[in-house]
Amino acid sequence: MNDFASHIDDVLVDAVVIGAGFAGLAAASRLTDSGLSVVVVEKHDMSGGRARVFKEDGFTFDMGPSWYWMPDVFEQFFEAAGAKVETYLDLVRLDPSYKVWFDDGPVDIPATSERVRALFESIEPGSGPAFDRFMKEAGEKYRLGMAEFVWKPGNSVWEFAKPGALFSAMSLSMFSSLSRHIRNHFSHPKIIQLLEFPVLFLGSRPEKSPALYSLMNFADTELGTWYPMGGMFEIVRAMETLAREKGVQFMFNTEVTGIVEKDGQVAGVSTNSGPIQSKSVIAAADYHHVEQRLLPTTWRLYDQAYWDSRKMSPGALIYYIGINKRLDNLDHHNLFFDVPFDPHADAIYDHPSWPKDPLFYVAAPSKTDASVAPEGCENLFILIPLAAGLSPTGNEHEVLFENVMARLEEAVGSDIRGSIVYKRSYAHKDFQEDYNAYRGNAYGLANTMTQTAFMKPKMRSKLPGLFYAGQLTTPGPGVPPSLISGQVAANEASEWLKKSRTNVGGVR
Ligand SMILES: Cc1cc2nc3c(=O)[nH]c(=O)nc-3n(C[C@H](O)[C@H](O)[C@H](O)COP(=O)(O)OP(=O)(O)OC[C@H]3O[C@@H](n4cnc5c(N)ncnc54)[C@H](O)[C@@H]3O)c2cc1C
Repeated sequence: MNDFASHIDDVLVDAVVIGAGFAGLAAASRLTDSGLSVVVVEKHDMSGGRARVFKEDGFTFDMGPSWYWMPDVFEQFFEAAGAKVETYLDLVRLDPSYKVWFDDGPVDIPATSERVRALFESIEPGSGPAFDRFMKEAGEKYRLGMAEFVWKPGNSVWEFAKPGALFSAMSLSMFSSLSRHIRNHFSHPKIIQLLEFPVLFLGSRPEKSPALYSLMNFADTELGTWYPMGGMFEIVRAMETLAREKGVQFMFNTEVTGIVEKDGQVAGVSTNSGPIQSKSVIAAADYHHVEQRLLPTTWRLYDQAYWDSRKMSPGALIYYIGINKRLDNLDHHNLFFDVPFDPHADAIYDHPSWPKDPLFYVAAPSKTDASVAPEGCENLFILIPLAAGLSPTGNEHEVLFENVMARLEEAVGSDIRGSIVYKRSYAHKDFQEDYNAYRGNAYGLANTMTQTAFMKPKMRSKLPGLFYAGQLTTPGPGVPPSLISGQVAANEASEWLKKSRTNVGGVR
């Protein structure tokens, strides 16, 4: 329901937030810390963005994220709002964290680093000390990254030019290639694939990703894989509740159609329900959409050629499936690395095309949470990474579906296709239509060396009073980065409003 539906053109608010995804919700809550009046404008009928939810035939399907990683970031967000994460979320740590299916069978990845170390030793005898060194460095990168690199708007290179931090980053080889870094420690292909998977699924070839991202291995092994009972949408519900408690108002089913400028600074937004006057705007919808479609050309930092030259992370072909039986051999998270990755990587990154035998991911949240499927049933989320912008001309999606289902059935030793009672697919065209996503991107820009930190699209717009948040700006894709992004953008906007108030001719 809309809080803010009538006479919107008569009201002047401190901040309008465009989009109620994680970044928009985080920004909205944080803006209220400075006593600002905030309205969130969202084109859908609910919050969540890429993390929306739908219910069908007794199943509850999370539409996007399924991995709850970096619990410290969620704790920080709630604590900064004077709340506790456990008041809002019933979190369980998964053990095993996930299952990886190789061509010779599955491997469970346990939830403690001692047991992961033992697993590595069993795969590559003698790799224990290398594991200790690798994880110690990954932990240092995580701490350094969080302290010095992540909580920055990326407006200028100078934000990152603290000599001590740069020296530590160099000594940890943060900017060399992740692929080389991993191979300096390990040689067994299974271990290499295990350590490379977090960057592969969130965005680029490990050869092109900076070793900084081995911090994800620390997040995986040390900080753990968690699950909020009820599903990932519970995080969204909690954040919206918190925002409302702090006085944020919401307008759903309302699309922003333009950013309004007056006297050289932002003056509000136009929407399909009328204009809203505001002193600042945080655009937490896709950056490309806001700059290229909602903002007059004079105020754009980037042109279409810039966007066309960006490396996007893979697109996603998703299947939401309900089946009328249980599957014994699956875990909550399952990665299928049962075929060589190189041909698939080539089809994603180098020669965009339909992969013959793709790697894929299956979540079965009903393994942990009985509430997401009817009794005796299983809730499956299947994701196949594809080249960004790939659009089918015929039955390519169905061919891929049959391919992965045949492999899944063989792996679990049970027929699945004959037990399907609900099936829905979702792909790049849906991302475009639902989220105004450039090239139908699922998780924004690839995490390459030249698209990291200040080399990402900047938070501060050329138009004073307009700031960007979300997965296409700093720090990047993923739920925890989006939470950080929203909070950093909110700080930028609050600071700007404060300064403008003290300037003659500032905010009206
Ligand atoms: C399939 C999938 C799986 C993922 N898995 C994981 C995972 O397991 N773990 C993890 O950490 N991350 C995961 N991610 C990434 C993570 O979900 C995203 O990085 C994050 O949700 C992005 O949040 P956001 O707020 O930046 O953008 P969004 O969620 O896209 O929010 C933007 C909002 O803006 C709205 N909007 C757009 N245009 C307008 C307009 N003109 N007017 C009004 N509103 C507008 C949209 O409707 C949307 O609600 C996954 C993503 C996808 C797609």
